[in-house]
Amino acid sequence: MSKRTILDLHPSEIRGRRALVRVDFNVPLDSGRVADDTRISAALPTLETLITRRARLVIVSHLGRPKAKPEPKYSLAPVAARLGELLGRPVTFVGETDTEAAVAATRALGDGDVLVLENTRFLPGEEQNDETLAKSLARLGDFYVNDAFGAAHRAHASTAGVAAFLRPAVAGLLMERELAYLGGALEAPRHPFLAILGGAKISGKIDVVESLLPKVDGLLVGGAMACTFYRAMGLETGTSLVEPERVAMAHSLLERAGYRLTLPHDVTVAPSAEQGTRAHTVKREAIPKDEAMLDIGPDSRASYARAILTAKTIVWNGPMGVFETPPFDAGTLAVAQAMAEATERGATTIVGGGDSAAAVERAGLSARMSHVSTGGGASLEFLEGKRLPGVAALDDRTAP
Ligand code: ADP
Ligand code: MG
Repeated sequence: MSKRTILDLHPSEIRGRRALVRVDFNVPLDSGRVADDTRISAALPTLETLITRRARLVIVSHLGRPKAKPEPKYSLAPVAARLGELLGRPVTFVGETDTEAAVAATRALGDGDVLVLENTRFLPGEEQNDETLAKSLARLGDFYVNDAFGAAHRAHASTAGVAAFLRPAVAGLLMERELAYLGGALEAPRHPFLAILGGAKISGKIDVVESLLPKVDGLLVGGAMACTFYRAMGLETGTSLVEPERVAMAHSLLERAGYRLTLPHDVTVAPSAEQGTRAHTVKREAIPKDEAMLDIGPDSRASYARAILTAKTIVWNGPMGVFETPPFDAGTLAVAQAMAEATERGATTIVGGGDSAAAVERAGLSARMSHVSTGGGASLEFLEGKRLPGVAALDDRTAP
């Protein structure tokens, strides 16, 4: 890990000082209550460490997609309430972000106190990484902690710009964990290193394929993505989701990948995802003209599971089928189950991507993976080999 973390700070850099902590509390709300607090829980190790070390916590986050102005339905008030319950201690909420009143509230904190400020996306300039806003946000703290891995691929004022005006600027523990797992897989994977890619569109994953191909021993493809490759192989794809403008690209990838890229040999097809009772298995050469590929078939499930169980590092992004609608969840569940078993046999298993993480969670297998990333878009950009602005802005760890 090349970035400093809160654990690298000297106690005197923390105690009694205001920690401006950027978290990813972009949680789903349901009639004014937090519907899923996974992301809040994920930040607790960082927050509890800072509390124990007697910092004064000033927490900021975005929530939803408000248009640079206050929208009550995107207020962080319910999130602050839920955070208080999870921490088991009082959490103050101030419905402003970088105003004089907000700054005064940060100055009124005692050691170990926790303050949550209002949604950073209510502020004009946040998404433009406006320098004046970044400076204004910097008044809210004496040092900066970024634990918002899920927002680290965005160069926003609260995720990147503010770090230029606050020192130290360090990673939180969730950020560190994400970078350790994803970075470890890319930089020093234990071999065999296997990647599994699926999901709806090949267009969103081409850069991931390009970046992973030179590193992996094998790349297994599933989901509708496979169909664009089938088209490149000259196969009939029926009414499957295909991206015609990506067929040439898929063709070139197939040539370069050679034996390392595996496509499902059999597939589950149906007239539509709504007609699960009409689902049946065909060889990939026999997809009916009026039906769609909606999942990988049973032979492919078994062979993908075997490959997973022989690998030492496995990175998975994108479901194998329309997992939201049984029976087209079978391929995704088979991969999730095999990954859980591989973890128990000592492999490092990493799930990235919002829908894949949701599928694993729904199958009750999250705890049996080495790591399930909390950042969908951020994990994808990381796997693409891109530099994440929210990470780049943090202090480098210099040799001791
Ligand atoms: P992630 O969020 O894990 O990165 P994506 O967003 O790329 O995954 O893809 C998830 C979506 O892909 C799901 O909504 C799923 O229904 C869809 N999908 C997977 N396989 C197919 C398929 N064969 N046909 C149509 N949609 C599919
Ligand atoms: Mg998705």
